[in-house]
Amino acid sequence: MEPGAGVARVQLEGAAALELDYAVPEKWAGRVSVGTRVTVPLQNQRVPAVVIELLESSPHRHRLKEIAGIVGSRPMFTPGLLRLADWVAEYYLVPVHRVLRAMLPQAVRDRPETFLKDSHLKLVREPAPEVLDKMTTRAPLQARLLEELRRRGGEATLSDLRRDLPSATTVIKSLLKNGWITRAEIRVTRDPFQTEEFLPSQPLTLTEEQQAAYDAVIEAVRKPADAKPLLLHGVTGSGKTEVYLQAITDVLKAGKTALVLVPEISLTPQTIERFKARFSERKDSIAVLHSHLSDGERHDEWFKVQEGRADIVIGARSAIFAPLERLGLIIVDEEHEPSYKQEDAPRYHARDLAVVRGRLEGCAVLLGSATPSLESFQNALTGKYELLRMTRRTDGKSMPLIRIIDMRLQRRKGTGTSIGNAMILSERLRTAVTARLERREQTILFLNRRGFHTTLDCTACGEVVQCQDCAVPMTLHKADNRLVCHICGARRVPPTKCPSCKEPGLKYGGFGTERVEAAVREVFPQARIARVDTDTMQRKNQLRDTLKDFRAQKLDILIGTQMIAKGLDFPNVTLVGVLNADTALNLPDFRAAERTLQLLIQVAGRAGRGELKGEVFVQTYAPHSPAIQFARHNNFEGFAEQELEHRQAFKYPPYGHMVLISSRGKHQTQAEFTLQTLHKRLEQGLPEGAVMGEPSPSSLAKAHGQYRFQLLLRTERIRPLARHLGKVMASITLPPEILVTWDVDPVSLG
Ligand code: ADP
Ligand code: ZN
Repeated sequence: MEPGAGVARVQLEGAAALELDYAVPEKWAGRVSVGTRVTVPLQNQRVPAVVIELLESSPHRHRLKEIAGIVGSRPMFTPGLLRLADWVAEYYLVPVHRVLRAMLPQAVRDRPETFLKDSHLKLVREPAPEVLDKMTTRAPLQARLLEELRRRGGEATLSDLRRDLPSATTVIKSLLKNGWITRAEIRVTRDPFQTEEFLPSQPLTLTEEQQAAYDAVIEAVRKPADAKPLLLHGVTGSGKTEVYLQAITDVLKAGKTALVLVPEISLTPQTIERFKARFSERKDSIAVLHSHLSDGERHDEWFKVQEGRADIVIGARSAIFAPLERLGLIIVDEEHEPSYKQEDAPRYHARDLAVVRGRLEGCAVLLGSATPSLESFQNALTGKYELLRMTRRTDGKSMPLIRIIDMRLQRRKGTGTSIGNAMILSERLRTAVTARLERREQTILFLNRRGFHTTLDCTACGEVVQCQDCAVPMTLHKADNRLVCHICGARRVPPTKCPSCKEPGLKYGGFGTERVEAAVREVFPQARIARVDTDTMQRKNQLRDTLKDFRAQKLDILIGTQMIAKGLDFPNVTLVGVLNADTALNLPDFRAAERTLQLLIQVAGRAGRGELKGEVFVQTYAPHSPAIQFARHNNFEGFAEQELEHRQAFKYPPYGHMVLISSRGKHQTQAEFTLQTLHKRLEQGLPEGAVMGEPSPSSLAKAHGQYRFQLLLRTERIRPLARHLGKVMASITLPPEILVTWDVDPVSLG
């Protein structure tokens, strides 16, 4: 038995899987638990670490050094999260300390428990009028402050008083001394929604389909040990959110907590409002975690969870690591969204982690989507997940009519709105917009490309003007007359002569949202139009304000990128135009068809959400491709069946896993050679059933000045392959100029 209060086994935060034992000093008995962040002495330094286990004594012989400090007043990791970290480390082949780092927001890691402070001031007794009079002549500032306090009902915070009385801080000292007021230190939470009003919403009477889904969820919440993860396939407008809300109500009633993941992009004020409104009497116990918060807000929201003051967390991808305890239900909305994949190490998939966390912590998991990922859908077909279906809109309306417009015909007829040779609006779509303007209904036009022109080519030599550092054409942004690289952000003044042959015949082509806006303004000069993309939505709250205006029908037409494709619900929108359905279809990715179908169904779901019937126009040069045809009939399951067959034939996911190894470097041959070396080493002892491709250039062959190569492996079982890869990587020395990364279950093959 060690002297002191036992032994803490820690994982260093800054070093590869290194577990060390330290003694817990007597003075901290009971304050060090599993999950506590500490500092420990190591080679004359103090380094941060996380306690992963408490022991009575250490197997090591030598006398242990003592823990040097404790960070924060409570453990930063729950036991459940520590187990999840181990799982992530093993499955995605990342050192566990990197996972632990990723689990804490940077603002929490760097500034643990630095909260904003304020003083709460309270009047001890009412000053009599004559006293106040005297004071006004002798100490006018003190008199003013008492007056202000009285006006505020006898109490106020210092920061509030300072607004009217800049000198309040000094005056307070005298008032305290003379016993007029008391002061208490309080903590201020930087609440991103402090100023918002939420009208309470009442639970709706569920439709039959909703009721069945809800019952299944509740059953799983009650008996998580017997339940499979649930996959809710509900068409857009079928009322999935209402099912979530009512299920969460039950979870809270049972004294448990709920975690709701939504894609970053649909973490709009509208989404958050629906939750805050339903739980309006406890809205302070909802924490929101996403990337648009300020550091301070994120810090405070996170501690709200860690201190147990929040029992609902709504957040994007990384909120899967929210330190909630007593988890009753994890919901992943729009579970098919690629943005659930973290593309930097540790490269994890938050939807998959939701299922794992649910299993580790014994809680129910609900994945919801109108267009489930084929991975999840396949799991439902094989019985690994339980499939719940909601096939009808809550309002009993039929799904919007989807009309496919063959742009090849349009182009031949030449009747649409085109500039140069790019057809932007077909005649049919233009007529449909006109009709909406006449009926005072609203239109959304969708195009997943920013900028004005998307290419600049030389007519003499055929040269495409590319970014010097990336193998992609540059996009013209007309507002500031610059060519911009959408990969690295490089900007330059558009050349007037071909950079290669010096001839003047440069020609722009292609179109993005900026050009669509210009064209639409020209065709419909009387319409009120707004564009929503990352170029126009720079200012904080700009997106919120624009959407508010659109909802209030101060705008007729909304033009936008994927920022407007998801989750928005505007009852007066009766027309959605997809200007180019082929952008996703032409991606060099085996999921291109799946992505296209998802996009079309999601975008179409924005139309006809209210009393009025919706219509969707899809412009395409490939009208007969299966993704477009199945989307047209809103037939997700038909598509899934056909696509799964195809995937099976090629052994693509969900039939087997992929591991994508990439190399990057300034020198092309070195980057390629590195992967070839790795390829050779991996071949020896490659686990049975694993198949390895050949090193080849990535589809984005150069980015940020670095050449990119990739090597694709396929396997039915990840762990043996991950272990093999881990061993090879540990035994091989790679040139330091070449960055080699690996991605388990990649969602993008770029
Ligand atoms: P989804 O998330 O499946 O696209 P929503 O949850 O946004 O669908 O619901 C679509 C619309 O239907 C919303 O306006 C919602 O308020 C309404 N709604 C949901 N459930 C019901 C119900 N049981 N009765 C009436 N309206 C409902
Ligand atoms: Zn670039």
